[in-house]
Amino acid sequence: MNLKNKYISIIGAGESGVGAALLAKKMGAEVFVSDFNLIKDQFRKELEDNDISYEENGHTLDKIGKADLIIKSPGIPNNTPVIKFIKESKITVLSEIEFASRFSSAKTICITGSNGKTTTTMLVYHILKSAGYSVGFGGNIGKSFARQLASSDYEYYVLELSSFQLDDLKDFRADISVLLNITPDHLDRYENDMNLYVNSKMKIINNQTEKDWFIYNADDFRITSALKKKSTHMNLATFSLLKKQEVGGYLNKEQIIINIKNQFTMSIHDLALKGKHNTQNSLAAGIAARIVEIRKDIVRQSLEDFVNVEHRLEFVAKINGVEFINDSKATNINSTWFALESMEKPTVWIVGGVDKGNDYDELMTLVDEKVKAIICLGENNEKIKEAFQSKVETLVEARSAVEAVAYAYRLARKNESVLLSPACASFDLFESYEDRGNQFKQAVRML
Ligand code: ADP
Repeated sequence: MNLKNKYISIIGAGESGVGAALLAKKMGAEVFVSDFNLIKDQFRKELEDNDISYEENGHTLDKIGKADLIIKSPGIPNNTPVIKFIKESKITVLSEIEFASRFSSAKTICITGSNGKTTTTMLVYHILKSAGYSVGFGGNIGKSFARQLASSDYEYYVLELSSFQLDDLKDFRADISVLLNITPDHLDRYENDMNLYVNSKMKIINNQTEKDWFIYNADDFRITSALKKKSTHMNLATFSLLKKQEVGGYLNKEQIIINIKNQFTMSIHDLALKGKHNTQNSLAAGIAARIVEIRKDIVRQSLEDFVNVEHRLEFVAKINGVEFINDSKATNINSTWFALESMEKPTVWIVGGVDKGNDYDELMTLVDEKVKAIICLGENNEKIKEAFQSKVETLVEARSAVEAVAYAYRLARKNESVLLSPACASFDLFESYEDRGNQFKQAVRML
C-alpha cells in the first residue's frame, strides 16, 4: 500500500487511532485525526510531537470527507452520525488492524473469544518468545498493532482481537486463528441479538486458506453450530475438556494431550494456569505452539513457568489462613462461573458493579455449593440481592473496596477464600477493572 501524497482521516484518537496515525505518517501520508470526545493528554502530546493534525470534542465532516482513505477505531459504534456520513461518502474505510496488516510481513496468530483472550494471547507469546522466535503481541491488549508496526515488524505477531475489531475486517487473514468460546457479552453493541455477536466472533476465520489453521473449542455449541453453516478451507484443530480430539488437544483425566504432528502430554498439575477455563487456554496455546513447530520441551517449560497477567484469578495474599483472590477482570457471568468453579474452599464472594444484562440463574448451583457469604460491591445491587438473598446466610452491601475487604475478612474463617469476581463492569464505583483490582489488593495488604 503506497501512502505517498495520500490524505488519511482517522476516526478516534485512542490507542488504535493514534497508532494508525503514527504508522500512516511514517508511510508518508498526510494525516488528520478526529475524535468526538476530549483526547487523553498522553495521546494529544504524541500527535503534537509527531506533527499530526487533529481535532477533538467533535467531528468536522468536511475535513474528514476529503480523505483518500479513512481508518476507524474499533470503539466507535456503526450507528454514530460520523460513521453514517463516511458510509455515504463511499470513501474506503479500513479498521486499524486491517490497515496495519498491510505493512507487516509477519505471520499472525489471532485470538478471540468472549473470555480468555488476554490470558491466551500472553501465553502464546510467552511460548514463542521462550523458543527464541522473533515475536510481538498487541491488538486489543498493550500497544495497537499499527503503533508497533510504526517501529518494528517481527516474524510473528500474536494478536488479541475483540469482536469490535473483527467487525470491521474485510480482507485480513490470520495464519492461525483461535476461538476460545462464545458466551453472552457486549450485547448492547449487537442489538441484543446473540446471532450478531456470534457472527462477529466467527469473522476470525474469514479469508483463511488451506495453508492456515483454525483452533477452536469443540465443547462450545455456539461455535460448532456456526462453523457448520460456513464453507471453509483452512485446517481445523479442536480442543475439548470432555472428549478425545483427533487433531488438536483434550483433557484426559489429569493430563492434557495434544495431537499435532506427534503427541504431547503434560499433567494439569504442572500447568502454571489453574482452573478448567485455564486448561482450555493452555490447550489452545499449546496447539498453536505445536502448529508453528515449537519443540515439546519448550512448550512444556513455558506452560509451566508462565506468570499470568494481573486481575485474572490472581492470588493476592493469605492472611490468618484466609486466601484473597483478585478476579476483577471477570466482567461477565461466564468468567465468574469459571472462577467460582475453581474455588476449592468455602468462599466469601464479592460481586457487583455495572450489570450488562446478567442472568444470575447460571451461577445458582455453584453458589449453592461454594459460597458462604456474598458482599455486593456496586451502586445498584438489587438484582444480585433478589437472585441470591435466599441462597446464603449473609449478604451485605459495600460501597468501596476497603469496606468490602473489611466485611470479607470478618466473614471468612481460616482455610476459606475471599474471591473478588464481580461478573459486572466497574464504572459505577471505579475507573476501570484495573482500578477495582488494585484497590482490592491494596485493601487486602492493609489488613
Ligand atoms: P479477555 O481478554 O477475553 O477478557 P482474560 O484473559 O482477560 O480474557 O480473562 C477475563 C476473565 O475471564 C478473567 O476473570 C479470567 O479468569 C476468565 N477467563 C480466562 N479464560 C477463560 C476461559 N477460557 N473461559 C472463561 N473464562 C475465562
